Amino acid sequence: MSGDWVWDQVDIIGRDPETYGSTFIPIILGSDKTTVSVAMGNHEYYPMYMSIGNVRNSVRRAHGDALVLIAFLATPKSGEHASDPMFQKFRRQLFHTSISTIFTSLKLAMTKPEVVRFGDGFYRHMIYSLGPYIADYEEQALLTCIVRCWCPRCLAHRSNLDADALCRCKEFTEALFEERTLAEIWDEYGIVGDIVPFTNDFPRADIHKLISPDLLHQLIKGVFKDHLVDWVEKYLRITHSKQEAERIMDDIDCRIAAIASFSGLRRFLQGRGFKQWTGDDSKALMKVYIAAIEGHVPCDIVRTFRTFLEFCYIARRNVITESVLEELNDALQWFYHYREFFKTVEVATTFSLPRQHSMKHYVELIWQFGAPNGLCSSMTENKHIRAVKKPYRWSNKYKALGQMILTNQRLDKLAASRADFTAHGMMNGTCLSAALDVCARLSSTNEHNTGGVSREDGDEDKAELPRSASIVGDNDLAEANDGPTSLSAHLELA
Ligand SMILES: [Zn+2]
Repeated sequence: MSGDWVWDQVDIIGRDPETYGSTFIPIILGSDKTTVSVAMGNHEYYPMYMSIGNVRNSVRRAHGDALVLIAFLATPKSGEHASDPMFQKFRRQLFHTSISTIFTSLKLAMTKPEVVRFGDGFYRHMIYSLGPYIADYEEQALLTCIVRCWCPRCLAHRSNLDADALCRCKEFTEALFEERTLAEIWDEYGIVGDIVPFTNDFPRADIHKLISPDLLHQLIKGVFKDHLVDWVEKYLRITHSKQEAERIMDDIDCRIAAIASFSGLRRFLQGRGFKQWTGDDSKALMKVYIAAIEGHVPCDIVRTFRTFLEFCYIARRNVITESVLEELNDALQWFYHYREFFKTVEVATTFSLPRQHSMKHYVELIWQFGAPNGLCSSMTENKHIRAVKKPYRWSNKYKALGQMILTNQRLDKLAASRADFTAHGMMNGTCLSAALDVCARLSSTNEHNTGGVSREDGDEDKAELPRSASIVGDNDLAEANDGPTSLSAHLELA
């Protein structure tokens, strides 16, 4: 909420005097496909998550309910028609129409303020708006209706993405549709012309301006793992004989293992060679990689990694100021300078790679949306476990979607009731800890009072029993505890 984007939105909303005094709620969206079971056939789900811009980044990143599951998007089975243009168009249309339909109920409240009860019990006017969208590159292309290998934010040509270019925007695309044919805008601007993005159905929303930065897929999995680490391997194979290259790579593996065990990263190494490392392990690899390749590769490669890591770690900070943005830009310029080495040794033929190019937009995006660690796809990936993977495991696997939705509903209700109980002071400790406390007190009373537990003592204990124990039915407690007779005797009293 500290970014320029919010202030710009508020300026536009403020033109209507009816909206004065309203609270602005930017809706943050994120969607990502996930596979739940590889062993029993690939069951793929396409969950969509929602959050709001009014909570802090740290709250959104925590494993709480600031990010909620709102829909499972359809994933039409492609089969033999996968390459059929008609089928591809249908799939794109289904995606955009689905999202548009999901948010139809909020459309009116995007222009006319709606009265809503807040968590503190007060009623306020609210105005909604579609906010940043968290997605990996494949989805960004689908969302912005661009051809693969083009940039979703700027009009730079796919053959030279890092060249200076104008930003994409809704108005420009619409003007192109009037002036040019579909084939021309496909070739020259990388726009898929047969479909319009879902954001066009909503006020003030332009999908090209809402694509958020994404540290996990763009920088860590993309540039670091898929580009730079691969290039180092290629470099070693080009410059050395096959055996020598293998020997050096084995040595790099050994060094990674040694450094990792020193720095407490041993869990990443159990039973795995460096070549199988994927996904989140790349974060751990980033920490040890420079020390592992030092001496085996020229200085310029080490410097490329150094400047890239500098960029990553600056972008991951919680607080980013203007001077930090200058450092970020500086690191990027040095990265551009040193990475040229890979071209001179003919390891990389081009740097026109969309994920690597996205680094160019980070400074601008941080101005727009604030620190990027609050809008990262690592949050949606974490949420997959609780909202999709575990509910799938708990289901009977037959037509699991309905069961998974029900599980999610129940989890939400449990979380809400837990919050409510906590607010009423009813969740201090657990039922068991309360019962054990009482037990301990009871045994100490027994020591003092050899006559056993009198009726009065029992009544006293009942009064002192924390309320957490009293919210569970007597039968439940009796069933749950087949323990010592003194405990069950006391619970009967309670
Ligand atoms: Zn771009």
